[in-house]
Amino acid sequence: SKEISGNSYHFFSEEMDNRTFESIKLENDLYKALEQNELVIFYQPQINSKTNSIEGVEALLRWNHPEKGMISPDKFIPIAEETGLIVSIGEWILKEACKQVKAWHDQGYPLISVSVNLSVRQFEQSNLFSIVKNVLNEVGLSPKYIHLELTENLIVKNTELIVETMKQLKGLGISIAIDDFGTGYSSLGYLKNLPISTLKIDKSFIQDMTKDDAAITNTIITLAKNLNLNVIAEGVEKKEQVDFLYARDCYMMQGYFFSRPMIAEDIAQKYFY
Ligand code: C2E
Ligand code: CA
Ligand code: CA
Ligand code: CA
Repeated sequence: SKEISGNSYHFFSEEMDNRTFESIKLENDLYKALEQNELVIFYQPQINSKTNSIEGVEALLRWNHPEKGMISPDKFIPIAEETGLIVSIGEWILKEACKQVKAWHDQGYPLISVSVNLSVRQFEQSNLFSIVKNVLNEVGLSPKYIHLELTENLIVKNTELIVETMKQLKGLGISIAIDDFGTGYSSLGYLKNLPISTLKIDKSFIQDMTKDDAAITNTIITLAKNLNLNVIAEGVEKKEQVDFLYARDCYMMQGYFFSRPMIAEDIAQKYFY
């Protein structure tokens, strides 16, 4: 407000400078993070609760910062997107995650898939299709084991480039999931035009399970069924949530009830032995 004294104004602006300094520092550190091997991939199981088996994992990025410790993606993905670093980081996680899953297959473990998150920038700033295709070739992984997760904010853009790239990826045999489904600003019309395989129910609907949340969850499950799409629920933490989804024929689930995201070795330890 206008009543702020010179002193408190000074205080505020210093605060702001500090914050700016912090984010510039983080940004500079992020430039080095990839080459200094500070980025780590955690994997979270995607469980088929009908067969009680692991069918896939979602690759989730972590940054093991030399001074700050483990930083969550919510803190640095936005910086990576603003700076364009997400393009190289995204290519890295795609390749590493594919290599990991391929290694598990080669070791005779179950033929699980891996879901990789993509941001809009990766569509706009790189030849995403050739990157994905090359990675799969180099790693020797069949496209059917990779799922790409996109959010609705990408769908909203609906540019020719994005649509064309999605069609090319689908043409390779890769399935595409809409992440955080139901939280975006897009209309549902895109579901009939875009090559989408899976709706991923956002954890906000699963967690509280108010009357309204339950109604929305029901609707998404029915929508998926009627459109012949797969459906997976994320953020499943409680037995009641498992039972609710199961009773509605939504069997694919992901969440702390089954497992937190963890390093590859722990996935193998817990699920493949
Ligand atoms: P997301 O793709 O929606 O991922 C799900 C988030 O929910 C993950 O947070 C996961 O750890 C968390 N989660 C899983 N189960 C539960 C649960 O039962 N309860 C609760 N409360 N949370 C659960 P995380 O790992 O912190 O990732 C946050 C977001 O960062 C992701 O949301 C995704 O949007 C982004 N992200 C992570 N890795 C990548 C990446 O490689 N590329 C891009 N572009 N974005 C990424
Ligand atoms: Ca995701
Ligand atoms: Ca999500
Ligand atoms: Ca999210």
